[in-house]
Amino acid sequence: MFEQALQLLKKYYGYDSFREGQERIITSILSGHDVLGIMPTGGGKSICYQIPALLLPGVTVVISPLISLMKDQVDALQSIGISACAINSSLTQSEAEERMEAAKLGAYKLIYIAPERLDSDRFRSQLQTLPISMIAIDEAHCISQWGHDFRPSYLAIPSVLKALPERPLLTAFTATATGEVTQDIVRLLQIDPTQTFVTGFDRENLKFAILRGENKRDYVLHYLEQHREQAGIIYAGTRKEVDALHQELSARGFAVGKYHAGLSDEEKSTYQEQFLYDDIRIMVATNAFGMGIDKSNVRFVLHVNLPKNMESYYQEAGRAGRDGEQSECVLLYHPQDVQLQKFLIEQGTAAVERKASEYKKLQLMVDFCHTTRCLRNYIVEYFDESPKVPCGVCSNCQDDSEVKDITVDAQKIFSCIYRMKERFGVTLVAQVLKGSANKKVLQFGFDQLPTYGLMKSYKEKEIGDLIHVLIAEGYLVLSDGQYPVVRLAGKALQVLKGQANVLQKVRVRSERAPIDSDL
Ligand code: ADP
Ligand code: ZN
Repeated sequence: MFEQALQLLKKYYGYDSFREGQERIITSILSGHDVLGIMPTGGGKSICYQIPALLLPGVTVVISPLISLMKDQVDALQSIGISACAINSSLTQSEAEERMEAAKLGAYKLIYIAPERLDSDRFRSQLQTLPISMIAIDEAHCISQWGHDFRPSYLAIPSVLKALPERPLLTAFTATATGEVTQDIVRLLQIDPTQTFVTGFDRENLKFAILRGENKRDYVLHYLEQHREQAGIIYAGTRKEVDALHQELSARGFAVGKYHAGLSDEEKSTYQEQFLYDDIRIMVATNAFGMGIDKSNVRFVLHVNLPKNMESYYQEAGRAGRDGEQSECVLLYHPQDVQLQKFLIEQGTAAVERKASEYKKLQLMVDFCHTTRCLRNYIVEYFDESPKVPCGVCSNCQDDSEVKDITVDAQKIFSCIYRMKERFGVTLVAQVLKGSANKKVLQFGFDQLPTYGLMKSYKEKEIGDLIHVLIAEGYLVLSDGQYPVVRLAGKALQVLKGQANVLQKVRVRSERAPIDSDL
């Protein structure tokens, strides 16, 4: 059967081989398992269910949450000669009925439906008359309340499945790989957890860079000057920032569009199309932009603000280089952005435990900005794949600053935290080590500690940065919550006892980005 899958891949899609993850997923489906495939945007999810759909008898029903995405998929299938249709709210009742009738007669191998269809009793009973071999669920994280995109209609899927005369195969796909979401999906859809495949998170053509302390506007202008011919996306945190950046860039003559939830549908689709068809080269956008856009030649993605977690970051950054060509993802890190994200979590209406989980994810995002390890490996490990050799091209791998023994500074920090009874945040610890006469420092009597002013030759910010590096490297832990408290991890105790050294690449703050201009 797998041989046939390969032949179909060649025949319809023109590709010679499956990607590693696709092969594992398709093999499992074809041997009769329900599966959950977790792949990043651009990882090649669609082929994972489209090829089995061609090999199975009857029809595959694909549940997909976005009408625009459905349309793209159906158009793409039809253009390569595979019979497919979509049934969603853009059709009249009679058009929808017609398509269902045709489906009954075997007119389609794939039918795309919006999840809300499942809320209709009439539609559910129509489904029972179709020869369904497989149900494929796209954006399966929508079934989880932990996901960023909960759709109540997804919860109807198990009962729809039960009501069918014959239980079809069930395949689910998502780019969101967090533990909670994955567990929800396998639990709610009753997929055997051993049939979960996490794959494709290592994108070899992406070059990651994290830059700290850059002036946003200057950096962006300089970058765009240096990448004149290329298409790219600039993600900013708020509508206001998008508007401001868009205005600035337009005024300077760049062909630039914008996208955020505050624009009219017409504006949004105009800019989106112009970008897709290369009429404009640069898109400045909030995270509202991107779901379902498949522009293959995006050469760079710049983040001028910190995203709220690694999932969002990687989904956005991953829009670069979908054609497999070398592309660049640059994140400009500013500590204020962490405050903004915390504020957003605090303002949110999520339940307490949900907020705690959001804080934890934010911390892992911040750690990514402070780690000195290979950035691509950090990502791959975050998403549960086994680490590979360092990529050699990210800003950390390229950072040739010396490895220094910072044991003594680390000991000063650890001992200060210890003496402050592990009850305060990064800022206050840094202030005490700096020897600040700040009111809070004096109020708690921290000016009496032997560690007070122990690092006064440093800037307070440098001490704070160093503490963050030690958090990112697992010597310190931050508690969850809006005002996280920094505590010592086991590794720090060893350092305090003189049983281990702390080696660290010490970053030299460069004038300009360490990025090849000839990319
Ligand atoms: P996703 O749905 O995971 O975002 P897609 O299914 O749209 O990803 O695939 C992303 C891109 O990768 C598409 O351009 C697709 O044609 C390409 N692709 C998928 N599978 C293969 C393969 N086996 N070989 C080469 N290119 C592939
Ligand atoms: Zn690297």
